Amino acid sequence: MDKELLEKCKQRLLEEKSKILERYFEKEETQQRLGEESKEPRDWEDIGQITYTEELLDSLSQVEMATLKEIDYALEKIDKGVYGICERCGEEIPEPRLCAIPWTRYCAQCAEEVEKESGTFMPYYGIDMYSPDNIQVEREDIGEA
Ligand SMILES: [Zn+2]
Repeated sequence: MDKELLEKCKQRLLEEKSKILERYFEKEETQQRLGEESKEPRDWEDIGQITYTEELLDSLSQVEMATLKEIDYALEKIDKGVYGICERCGEEIPEPRLCAIPWTRYCAQCAEEVEKESGTFMPYYGIDMYSPDNIQVEREDIGEA
């Protein structure tokens, strides 16, 4: 797999992870300020190393938790050198798809199949977060009213 793309995807994964964790850290930092000095801002490598406490998991929504799991799983695959390979058909996942959903486990076709088979396929919701088309649909709905 292309090294530049791999770095790009890794960056995106850590970015998404830090976005989700931000809320929790704001809360924790507030608590810390009451007692001791707050810590320096964490860098992305630190964020990649974070282990989750029960308290953290309690404060996240199910979607956030599922995303974190997928992100960690993807980061693990990067470490093992198997990132970007569809887990179902073994083909390389095309770059545009990886850029849109960097934690995806499958190519677009397999993701569809898996979704059909399982009924609920969580990693697929990532599309809603990045596709401008979906935003347009919402706006149309508002316009019709
Ligand atoms: Zn596939």
